[in-house]
Amino acid sequence: MAEQTQVRKYGYNIPISEKTLQVPWEEKVRVIEEVKSDFRFKEYLFGCLNCGVCTASCPSNRFFDYSPREIVQRFLENDIDVLYDMMHEYIWACSQCFTCWIRCPFVNNPGGLVIIMREVAVRNAFEATKDLLKPYGRVLLKVMTTGNQLSADMLQPDFFPDWGPKMLDNMENLRPKRMAIPFDVGKSVKTAWEVSLQTAIEMYQIWRDTGIFEMLERLDPNLYNVIMDIVEENEERWEELMEEMEEAEA
Ligand code: SF4
Ligand code: SF4
Repeated sequence: MAEQTQVRKYGYNIPISEKTLQVPWEEKVRVIEEVKSDFRFKEYLFGCLNCGVCTASCPSNRFFDYSPREIVQRFLENDIDVLYDMMHEYIWACSQCFTCWIRCPFVNNPGGLVIIMREVAVRNAFEATKDLLKPYGRVLLKVMTTGNQLSADMLQPDFFPDWGPKMLDNMENLRPKRMAIPFDVGKSVKTAWEVSLQTAIEMYQIWRDTGIFEMLERLDPNLYNVIMDIVEENEERWEELMEEMEEAEA
């Protein structure tokens, strides 16, 4: 009779994926060490009573097979295979409310550990991360080019089909509707608030210096090209403006 190998599981019944098992051990260790070497890691994990208070308070635990207690426990056990597997889909169930942090008697921050794991997953351009971030392409485009997350012109039925047919009515006469808002929101439909060219240029510098552009290029080259066209166009406008100001002062 053929020998049966036991598939290791975590959560209530999640088997470690075949993909994870095929990744060379050294590579999995490298990724988990990248998480553990983050300067925040030692501020987020102190020990664990295994009391389960974090999981009992976790809203995501009510809807998904997801437990902050298990993340903490797996780090303390240094369970490389499970932690690496969690970094593909499991961690994206966290809603980043930080109830776990507030309630943990050890002041562990499982939600913070998830932030680090997500950042490493994005930096390493994991396939699951690419798939998860795809629906947020329009939001990323808006955030990275204008610093605004959502704007009036994004409220379109094909952007948010789950918002129902009334969305079409909302799109009519958008500009007058914005103008009618009785306090200053910049009156723009392309951004939620006005962002000066100087602010945008400073923001692009931050994206450059922190490696965000590079990260995006690895994750979604098409979106990266669209964003860079807008960024370069704005940077050219800024340079021209600076030259004009220098000439005027000369
Ligand atoms: S931060 Fe994440 S892990 Fe912590 S309670 Fe909220 S959803 Fe759960
Ligand atoms: S609340 Fe803190 S001590 Fe209790 S299981 Fe969660 S991480 Fe561990």
